Amino acid sequence: MMQTQLTLTTMVRHAEKYFPNKTVISRTLGGVQTIPYRKITERIHRLAGVLKNLGVKKGDKVGTIAWNHHRHLEAYFAIPSIGAVLHTINLRVSPDDLAYIINHAEDKVLLVDEDLFPLLERIKDQISNVEKIIMMTDKDDLPETSLKNVASYESLLQESDPDTALSEDINENDMAGLCYTSGTTGRPKGVVYSHRGIYLHSLALGLKDTAELSEEDTAMPVVPMFHVNAWGIPFAALWFGTTQVLPGPMPTPQILAELIEEHQVTIAAGVPTIWLGLLQALEKGNYDTSSLRCILCGGSAAPKGMIRAFESKYKIPFVHAYGMTETSPIVTLARLKSYQRDLDEEERLELRARQGMVVPGIEIKGVNENREIPHDGEAVGELLVRGPWIADSYYKNDRSEDSFRDGWLHTGDVVNIDEEGSVKIVDRTKDMIKSGGEWISSADLENALMAHEAVFEAAVIAVPDPKWQERPVACVVLKENEKLTEEDMKQFLEPQFAKFWIPDRVLIMDEIPKTSVGKFLKRALRDQVKEQLSLSDPS
Ligand code: AMP
Repeated sequence: MMQTQLTLTTMVRHAEKYFPNKTVISRTLGGVQTIPYRKITERIHRLAGVLKNLGVKKGDKVGTIAWNHHRHLEAYFAIPSIGAVLHTINLRVSPDDLAYIINHAEDKVLLVDEDLFPLLERIKDQISNVEKIIMMTDKDDLPETSLKNVASYESLLQESDPDTALSEDINENDMAGLCYTSGTTGRPKGVVYSHRGIYLHSLALGLKDTAELSEEDTAMPVVPMFHVNAWGIPFAALWFGTTQVLPGPMPTPQILAELIEEHQVTIAAGVPTIWLGLLQALEKGNYDTSSLRCILCGGSAAPKGMIRAFESKYKIPFVHAYGMTETSPIVTLARLKSYQRDLDEEERLELRARQGMVVPGIEIKGVNENREIPHDGEAVGELLVRGPWIADSYYKNDRSEDSFRDGWLHTGDVVNIDEEGSVKIVDRTKDMIKSGGEWISSADLENALMAHEAVFEAAVIAVPDPKWQERPVACVVLKENEKLTEEDMKQFLEPQFAKFWIPDRVLIMDEIPKTSVGKFLKRALRDQVKEQLSLSDPS
């Protein structure tokens, strides 16, 4: 067989040749615009020219600090297409981590949204390796900034050659992307994506049994483009000629509902927090969401009650998926096998709330004390993953060995796997609660609490206990105008769990602290609860 290289430049060429009339709908501070792929691919060539003129060479890192919009999409392709590395930077990290990430990656050029300049201004004296900052704005004149070496994206593009050649000299194993994980402990760790990994992951997104992404779709990645490449959707979508709706800066649930209705979105992707918000918007407003054939939900466990609400009330098919920054991210997806569709509704829901079946191309196993766990839906072990779009180390990081051993990525997620091969994440290794020597899954309790119709969201954590070592405490946020007591919540859980699983306390809160990508920040929650309960620190 031919050894053609699996690179992003092939994707750009394919889109410009076969899908010039398909469109990207992009929301920016200036409004919503519809741009044909013809224009997008021309601008990719122009941006490639701009970067070459700035002296960006093969292997150089170009950072982006940006929302989901067409300019970010152009950067997604232009940077790797000249052999440089697209470094998507999480705009919600602390100033200290932001400086660390930019320095650790050795970003030479940064592409930054106009409204995100203040983030950079705060750390301007700490990022001396950055030679040029390009402002992404709709405005003709550059707004005032204290940063030096700033240029306007649009002016540079206008002056650049639309026929700039993309690089022919790219090996499929070359670095194409770099993304730092928003780890809840320690410094962020960099994950490198190769051209080959992105290419194969994109193909996987097109499979009928995965996201089934195709030319026919209108895809709206709500998951940020700085979080695992918006789950790879922008890459696959441009390649497949899929219409894209990029929801721009701080999209509210109302904005998302409007975009879905107006642009007939067929598939939207994001974390559960986004979909909880959308549910509330749908309950309040009268939106037509009948175009949606799939909500793809991952990043944290999708509560069963939420899946039920979308499917029964709004007739929107909901697909639960699992992955990590280290895995590009798709690893598993919860779809029923053909013969499971005859099961009764509750059983089907139970299966679809699991994280699901491994996608073709990736291998997994659950391991407990060096032994592979049986597929019986009971035994628990750490999930190990390997495959062509799984990272094999962290970028320039000595701690890599803990996670990458014996040819497998050790995910830190505790799972059981049922007879059909469907994975269920029971917990993060570090979030499991050990009470009197027995394990309690915080994820199972959270799922049960969130199935209560008055509950907006719930997180369960371990608190130190003199007798049992650890005991669960639940933190619950109620929906607007709901009034439930701690006792009500406990009574609700009692018939569902063994007695020792029932949380000692159920604290009703206004808000649960979240990570920069919308996941429960359990470390901060533990501190908050400790303070609230005046617990002493076990250490
Ligand atoms: P990140 O690298 O920030 O995307 O985080 C990856 C982690 O998120 C995984 O290791 C899991 O702990 C968690 N995660 C991702 N998807 C799911 C899911 N569908 N259900 C439960 N946890 C998930």
